[in-house]
Amino acid sequence: MAMTAPARLALLLSWLNGVPLPEATVRRRLRMFVESFDGSANAAHVRTHAGAGFAEITSCSAATLTRMHRRLCAVLDGGFVPSGTAPHGPWPHFERFTGIQFSVLRMDRGDSAPKRSRTRAATRAALLAAGRYRLLVDTTRERGTLSDLVTWLTLALLTAPGMVVVSRCPAPAPGDWTRRCHRLVVARGQGRPRQYCSVACRVRTHAAGRARERGL
Ligand SMILES: [Zn+2]
Repeated sequence: MAMTAPARLALLLSWLNGVPLPEATVRRRLRMFVESFDGSANAAHVRTHAGAGFAEITSCSAATLTRMHRRLCAVLDGGFVPSGTAPHGPWPHFERFTGIQFSVLRMDRGDSAPKRSRTRAATRAALLAAGRYRLLVDTTRERGTLSDLVTWLTLALLTAPGMVVVSRCPAPAPGDWTRRCHRLVVARGQGRPRQYCSVACRVRTHAAGRARERGL
């Protein structure tokens, strides 16, 4: 399944934005998110190994999910500071990972003998091509490693090619137009980036604009 980086993040977005979702839906989307790192270019050449983390997606407690939610929100809050909030400085937020392990795999094993028909330029291009190496990430076989895996994958995703449009919804907050909505917005696909997190927020922004024009 070729999924773009924004589509991957969008899998988690409603949950991270605090939209009430059935727990089974959260777990299903977490699984899709983790599984979507298949080593392809869209997945930043990262591949997740079907280790203990997969079992944990179904077996972990609701409290674990809540803690993971809090941790991911802290990561995103550090990287995408809501407007009106003081920035944390150049190094906003660090995460420690003890529950994951890494390896790297060359993708052209068995094809290392130079082909006679290849020009030097073609050989060089093949050596330098993105995706020649794949980063493998697996959970360690200990408890509580899923949070490490999902958080690390989110960090990797935010720096992946094509992951350019993440912002905060600028609409007035529902019920209090002096505050902002500030939910995360990920633009999907091509074209003009989406600005608002929902139709309701777009409508509220226009209503607030009209109210300002009328001097209310
Ligand atoms: Zn909004």
